[in-house]
Amino acid sequence: MAQGDPELAEHAFRLCQQLLRIDTTNPPGNELPAAELLADELSGAGLEPLVLESAPGRGNVVARLCGTGEKPPLLLTAHLDVVEADPSAWDHPPFGGEVHDGCLWGRGAIDMKNMAAMSVAIITRLARERLKPKRDLIFAGVADEEAGCRHGSLWLCENHTDLVRSEFAIGECGGFNIQVAGQSFFTVQVAEKGVCWVRARATGEPGHGSMPREDSAVVQLSEAIARLGKQGLPRHSSEPVRGFFGALASHLPAPIRPLIKMLGSPTFGPAILNLVPDPGVRRAFRALMGNTASPTVLRAGNGTNVIPGFAEAEIDGRILPGQTKDDFLRELREVLGADIELEVMHTLPPMVTEPKESSLYSLIHEVMAERAPDAPLVPFALQGFTDAKAFTAIGAKWYGFAPVMLPPTLRFSDMFHGHNERIPVDGLAWGTETLMQVVRRCVDA
Ligand SMILES: [Zn+2]
Repeated sequence: MAQGDPELAEHAFRLCQQLLRIDTTNPPGNELPAAELLADELSGAGLEPLVLESAPGRGNVVARLCGTGEKPPLLLTAHLDVVEADPSAWDHPPFGGEVHDGCLWGRGAIDMKNMAAMSVAIITRLARERLKPKRDLIFAGVADEEAGCRHGSLWLCENHTDLVRSEFAIGECGGFNIQVAGQSFFTVQVAEKGVCWVRARATGEPGHGSMPREDSAVVQLSEAIARLGKQGLPRHSSEPVRGFFGALASHLPAPIRPLIKMLGSPTFGPAILNLVPDPGVRRAFRALMGNTASPTVLRAGNGTNVIPGFAEAEIDGRILPGQTKDDFLRELREVLGADIELEVMHTLPPMVTEPKESSLYSLIHEVMAERAPDAPLVPFALQGFTDAKAFTAIGAKWYGFAPVMLPPTLRFSDMFHGHNERIPVDGLAWGTETLMQVVRRCVDA
């Protein structure tokens, strides 16, 4: 076990608390004050951060600790925006940064202002030590991840590629502990689903509401969406998903091992899923068994007495690693029917870290074996998407690893975009020291 480093942990805590008190709800984001706060901190340690605005108020911050250049850079990255929080549903103010029950509360406490705070604490510490690492260490705090990355990592990687190009990137979404069949595991993210946000549109003859039409746009669209809700999309097998369940299974007792392993199978997975008691876990695992499509926005008509000429639904589509946008659209079309017109609003391909083994992957395992010897580290595939899409597109190998130790009563998946998001103060300290160990060994090795 590595020696504790209370000063480093205290620094990360203070930064995280300050960040939580800045409301960066996206939309609109307004990440600039958060980027400036971190820039001040980085300047204070002698670094020369750049604050880059992709659009008014959309602040990104990049800093580099220069090494000898013997090896290519390591990037630490976190998004600075957060999803909305309804204060009336929280026990403590979502932008208060208050400490209660041993936890630091606030929207972004685990997604992912904690990672921004840990990264800046680490890079400023190494700068103050006047260490000359073998690799440059880069920090990028980015805007707009929660709304699709366009004003953040995608913009940064396209317009300032050289500032953020790296061999390895560490960001979200992994590093937290989960419980499966009574055993604790830590996760490191090595794959994530792609995105395909679609507008589905039905058209029909407009008319007077007093004379119903069976072929009305509203009826057509409603029927199609109801079919989608009932049927879903077909199941598929995916290598990173099989890898995740296989790794979990290998650490579990023999009787349960084959069942967990079979969760990675599109044929047997769905039946085994029904044995999982927790509905949240069932939903999360089911989303790894194929492409998915969630209808989220509905739009039609303006007046109660007018049958509108069109009806629209926005659909949040997610593409399984190994599948393509075209595969997804074909499956969606089959369920919705040929009369529904589809328009792609935004799409990003799935991400897979390949091959997932690397010197950094081994280092993360090595450090975790010391820091959490009883919780095996498993490679994890994410249902959502992250800034990995942008950084891997310019050549980085991505590991989602924002370490945090959670007590069994706090589940990462419940707090991620949920009410009462918070991080245990001890868990943040543990995470900061853990990430420091990984970074030190990576830039020094
Ligand atoms: Zn996030």
